[in-house]
Amino acid sequence: MHPLVIYVDKTGMSKKDISRACYALKTLLVLAGFSWRFVSSLPPEGADISYGVSVHDTRISILRARDLSCTRPQPRVVSCDDVFFLKFDESSPHFPPLLRLSNPGLRRHGNRLVLHEDIVFGTYYLLNGLHEASIKRGKWDSCDLSTSFLYSQDILQRPLVSQWASLLRHEFREHDPIPPWPNGKTYALALGHDVDYPEMVPWIESLRYLAQYKAGAKVRELIDILKGRESFWRFQDWMHLEKLRGFTSTFYFCSFKGSVFRYLTKAPDPFYDVHSARFRDLFSLLRDQGFEIGLHPSFLAYTSRQQFQEEKSSLEEASGVCVLGNRHHYFHMDPENPTRTAQLHFELGFLYDSSLAFSECSGFRRSACHPFRLYGETSGKELGVLQLPLTLMDDHLYWFGHTVPYPDDMAHVAALQASVAQLQGLFVANWHVRRFNSTFFPGWTRGFEHLLTLAKRGGDCYCDTAVAIARHWIFRENLLLTSSSCDI
Ligand SMILES: [Zn+2]
Repeated sequence: MHPLVIYVDKTGMSKKDISRACYALKTLLVLAGFSWRFVSSLPPEGADISYGVSVHDTRISILRARDLSCTRPQPRVVSCDDVFFLKFDESSPHFPPLLRLSNPGLRRHGNRLVLHEDIVFGTYYLLNGLHEASIKRGKWDSCDLSTSFLYSQDILQRPLVSQWASLLRHEFREHDPIPPWPNGKTYALALGHDVDYPEMVPWIESLRYLAQYKAGAKVRELIDILKGRESFWRFQDWMHLEKLRGFTSTFYFCSFKGSVFRYLTKAPDPFYDVHSARFRDLFSLLRDQGFEIGLHPSFLAYTSRQQFQEEKSSLEEASGVCVLGNRHHYFHMDPENPTRTAQLHFELGFLYDSSLAFSECSGFRRSACHPFRLYGETSGKELGVLQLPLTLMDDHLYWFGHTVPYPDDMAHVAALQASVAQLQGLFVANWHVRRFNSTFFPGWTRGFEHLLTLAKRGGDCYCDTAVAIARHWIFRENLLLTSSSCDI
């Protein structure tokens, strides 16, 4: 594969700036499917892309933001040709006057393209959550969405980083980029189920049933709940639904056994015991049928490496598999610094994590609908664990529905699916196991089934377990890396 030549003008950049820029450029190029050769002086034969303070005679010139500090105020969102950009500099005196006067975002000069807004710094900024500094947190560290930059700017459902990668893929399409997904499929789908509360506590649920249905509650239903004839143990229902249509998913289990007392006083952890015979039988069934078993760490697992390790080992012992996938209960990574938790994931031997999402609203919390890696500020390199960013879960549609701009669940699923498919991205869905119970959650499987229908209808969707998708992505990433070089 012939690499793209990327000229990075280091003038005025610190070592850290250069390292972050290389990380961001690599990420964009991996997403787009190109290998690269980074150079710090313009070669006589020219370069494909330049990144610096002025326009060069390259196919694409990316103009660098003047201030690469991470303490800047939040940028402004501008759009051009349906692509959205972050405007970090309100005035850019080093830009040629003609370009400064032009519309924001990008401008074409014949075969050349000038990007006025810094998509390299923007990629680093978004993927690593620098825009999240303003977010206020509530109970259980839930994010107050109204204080989120992406939500307030109405770009939570527009994955900007993936858009920029798509722009590069299109501009250099004659270089034959490596397609993102196998067998000519356009986009990927990872289905998953967090296992929070699979064993109903009858007295709690009878109260909940009365609260939910009030005067409409039926005595017979109440008796069924109290006698244990209603169930949240719906694993086989999900497996059947998926198998019937040719899909396979991942179930994320919590191996830490909480209690009602702990729930009320300390942390909202699940209550079940993965070492019981019932769970051991279930693990055997899941393994035999090709479903993945992942970890759903307890609410505070990230605070103790030892505790986290014990939870992983405990699930591995109970399930008989090496656990490679992870999604935190309540998406609860270190709220001050999620990257610190991601570092822990790598040290504990996870291949991927899928916790970077907001509980209250669907979309792209780090503005990407592709697998990516976070940047380690200490090491100056990308972290070893892959991020599979969550797109949508049941709660987004049926619990926090009031914060979703689409009142219709089916339309919302279709809009997200179309946007991921258009960018050749990855759609990660999470439907909790108990949501198959239609007494408590009437109609909650509708959005999930619609997603499967859309995936089948187009014939262009690659669906596999999350770990298989992560392995595919890492293989592809390594292919690109072997033909890439950095002379900076
Ligand atoms: Zn959970």
